[in-house]
Amino acid sequence: VEGSEGRESGYWRLSKLAVPARDDPGKDFTGISLPLLQAIAKAIKFPVASMLPDEAFTVIRKSFDARKVLKEPQFTYTVDMDVKKLLDMEPRAWDFIARLEPKLGAVEYMPKEKLASDLVSMLNASNKGYDHELGIRDTYNDSICPQDKKPRVAVIGSGPSGLFASLVLGELGADVTLLERGQPVEQRGRDIGALAVRRILQSESNFCFGEGGAGTWSDGKLVTRIGRNTDGVQAVMQTFVHFGAPPNILVDGKPHLGTDKLVPLLRNFRHHLRELGVTIRFNARVDDLIVEDRQVKGIVVSDSELRPGSGSQKLSFDAVVLAVGHSARDTYNMLQQHNVDMSPKSFAVGLRIEHPQELINSIQYSELAAEVQKGRGRIPVADYKIVKSVGEKNAEELDIAEQSRSCYSFCMCPGGQVVLTSTDPSELCINGMSFSRRASKWANSALVVTVSSHDFKPFRSHGPLAGVEFQREFERRAAVMGGGNFVVPAQRVTDFISNRLSVTTLPPSSYRLGVRPSKLHELFPPYITEALQQSIIMIDREMPGFVAKEALLHGVETRTSSPLQISRYGETYESTSLQGLYPIGEGAGYAGGILSAAVDGMYCGFALAKQLSLFHGDI
Ligand code: FAD
Repeated sequence: VEGSEGRESGYWRLSKLAVPARDDPGKDFTGISLPLLQAIAKAIKFPVASMLPDEAFTVIRKSFDARKVLKEPQFTYTVDMDVKKLLDMEPRAWDFIARLEPKLGAVEYMPKEKLASDLVSMLNASNKGYDHELGIRDTYNDSICPQDKKPRVAVIGSGPSGLFASLVLGELGADVTLLERGQPVEQRGRDIGALAVRRILQSESNFCFGEGGAGTWSDGKLVTRIGRNTDGVQAVMQTFVHFGAPPNILVDGKPHLGTDKLVPLLRNFRHHLRELGVTIRFNARVDDLIVEDRQVKGIVVSDSELRPGSGSQKLSFDAVVLAVGHSARDTYNMLQQHNVDMSPKSFAVGLRIEHPQELINSIQYSELAAEVQKGRGRIPVADYKIVKSVGEKNAEELDIAEQSRSCYSFCMCPGGQVVLTSTDPSELCINGMSFSRRASKWANSALVVTVSSHDFKPFRSHGPLAGVEFQREFERRAAVMGGGNFVVPAQRVTDFISNRLSVTTLPPSSYRLGVRPSKLHELFPPYITEALQQSIIMIDREMPGFVAKEALLHGVETRTSSPLQISRYGETYESTSLQGLYPIGEGAGYAGGILSAAVDGMYCGFALAKQLSLFHGDI
């Protein structure tokens, strides 16, 4: 066929291949089933699907799609077709392959296998020697930089951003010390258990602080707005798999890990860092920076575990990576005292709504809901994602900044539970987590409204920390409304939209420390409450049954992302106000979730390694 020369090898990427859910082997199967071969055959116009050899195809992405616009729920696949393999096994396919035309977003020709970028290859190569079961690494090459000349780098915080910065810098030969105020995952698990059972909140070891950062006892959703197929995200996902994450996260359209998978992954990550020579210190809170002539020379650590009763310790470093997350309010105060350039940033606040998971399954899947079977079934437990814009109708009456606020669902946890993310007993805030099977009987999600520096005006005396004070105000109100002891104020959604206290017994909640009927409609200022009420009514039109008597709102969700941004230079990641300081991740205002924080940490690692002359490539 004219124009098909040279296409006897290479790959065709076939996207949007639909397999009806009733015919698909199910969410956990990422191989080539006959119904998928039929969809492929249809796409390439090959007449007999069962004659196509499975070996010629690889599933790149698989997503479940139950949108109401479809005739029936389906799995949607992206598949790579290896032309050479296909022709070796089924030469008659050539007539059809030769006629294939590229079609935007559906059929794409790649002359050879897409090579992994330098970044992915580099992380792959460096991770290859690591066996996550044995915890042994065999490729570390100490010759990159002699031990006594290695630049000394402190990484503060072991969340995704700090871990990935440490990994890259460690691999490239820096002498890295990772300092984490909280505990390793084993002890952190016990501390979180004590919180759930005995109401003991450890100020340094809780849902926000400790190994792995805020996302460890989470839903572990690995979704991001920075582009699933970008090199950075691919490199992070593959690194997770090296450390023990199930490989199907690379294929799944909405991958998630769950706490039970995150904990062993983090343990493997820690072993690997130690094998690399990274010094990891837990229970080591960084309280201050040592600054001379606007240059960071070191840090002051309060280290109660290694040196009981010893107070603080001063340590010198060539560079300090600040990866503290958005709940380290004491660290923000310390930065303000050093006049570090920071400015308030928009974020979102609201309430967390919880429904019986079965109700969400039936709203989203109709009759297919029976197939969910608590995460063990063929189709995934139902979730939802909603974005609404409210306030336009009353734009004339509203201040400019209040026109058209976004209200959206945030951190939706199907089959999960509501958890306490406070770091101080006088404040109360919540979030959601789940285990890998998402098997609990509840579905929870935050419903949040965007707020910006205009809204923080009452707190402007706090300068760049005005947004932090804004958060704190509502966390304190929530703690008072709940009546103390981490009891969460709650209200039926039906009562919230009618501005009335729930007088009948509240529906059950997954939150372990108790809920108390409260006037949540009085917790936030009217512009937030009304935006939430309007959007809940809109959501119910889209998802009839969402406003149900079993649906319970919990207060408050305030830490959706960082309330400030620490200024840094784009290329070097260095603070614009303090040399030698590298603010990264969510706490610095450059990420919003596990993946974007990890990617930010990884790129900072490369940028810093370049400045330290450990790395000369382009990333
Ligand atoms: P963090 O993860 O917050 O890590 C910062 C670390 O720094 C912490 O371990 C802290 O103890 C340490 N630290 C702070 N101050 C100091 C100091 N002074 N000295 C030493 N150490 C310090 N995101 C998703 O993408 N998917 C999800 O499903 C998801 N679910 C979540 C559920 C919950 C309950 C929570 C709380 C968050 C969830 N997130 C989720 C958000 C996600 O966890 C964060 O976006 C991500 O962890 C940010 O990474 P980070 O490295 O920037 O900061």
